[in-house]
Amino acid sequence: MRIDILTLFPDMCESVYTESIVGRSIAKGLLEIHSHNIRDYSDNKHNNVDDTPYGGGMGMIMQAQPIYGCFKALCEELGARPHLIYMSPQGKVLTQQRVKELSKLPNIALLCGHYEGVDERVIEKIVDEEISIGDYVLTGGELPALVLSDCIARMIPGVLASDEAMENESHYSGLLEYPQYTKPAVWKGMEVPEVLLSGHHANIEKWRKEQSLKRTKERRPDLLENSE
Ligand code: SAM
Repeated sequence: MRIDILTLFPDMCESVYTESIVGRSIAKGLLEIHSHNIRDYSDNKHNNVDDTPYGGGMGMIMQAQPIYGCFKALCEELGARPHLIYMSPQGKVLTQQRVKELSKLPNIALLCGHYEGVDERVIEKIVDEEISIGDYVLTGGELPALVLSDCIARMIPGVLASDEAMENESHYSGLLEYPQYTKPAVWKGMEVPEVLLSGHHANIEKWRKEQSLKRTKERRPDLLENSE
C-alpha cells in the first residue's frame, strides 16, 4: 500500500513516519509513505500558497491552485487517481472500522490543511472524503494525517509481530483490551493476577474476555450500546 501526504510541512511528516515500527515497515518494503510539498506547485512568482478570506475575517486560507497542482502531479506520477482524504475537524470522526477499510486500498492521499483551512472549491473538486481525528481543532492537518497513516500501517500484514496482537487490541472487535502486566510478578507490593501466572491457557483466555467486557462496560458503555 502507498500513502501520499500533501502538506506545507513535509519535513514534519517525514520525521515521524521514518521512525519506529512504521519506519521499519517502510524499510522492509511493506508500505510506502511519501510527502509532497504543496508550495512546490504554486504558480505564483513568490510561491505563495495562501491568501485572506473573501468576506473578511481572521487568518489566511490555503488557495485552491497549488493543492490542485500537487494532486494532479501525484495522479500523473502514480498513473492512477488515489482516494483523497482531507484531514478536517468537519469530517467524520475516525474509527477503527474505517481504518480497516482504508487499509485495503492500494493508494490513498491525505490533504493537510493549515491556517484557517482550505478554499472550499478545491475540496468540492478533488476530495473524496473528510476525516476528523476528534472533536477539537489542531493548527494543521499534519498530525491528523500521521495519526491516520500510523493506524493504517498497523493493519498491513507483516507490520505487527502477529495478527493476534492486532485483533486483541482495543476497538478492533468493538471492545477495550484487558489489563496487561509484565515482570516482575510483584511491584511495590502489587501482585499480578494469579491466573496469569498459572500457565492454564483456557482460564487465562476466559479471564481476559471477562476483563475486556468489564472494562468496556465501565469506561466506554457507548461501545456496547453501538454494537447492539
Ligand atoms: N477553520 C477550520 C474550521 O473551523 O473547521 C479549522 C482549520 S484548522 C485551524 C487548520 C487545519 O488543521 C485544517 O484545515 C485541518 O486540515 C487540520 N485539522 C484541525 N483539526 C483537525 C481535526 N480534529 N481532525 C483533522 N484535521 C484537523
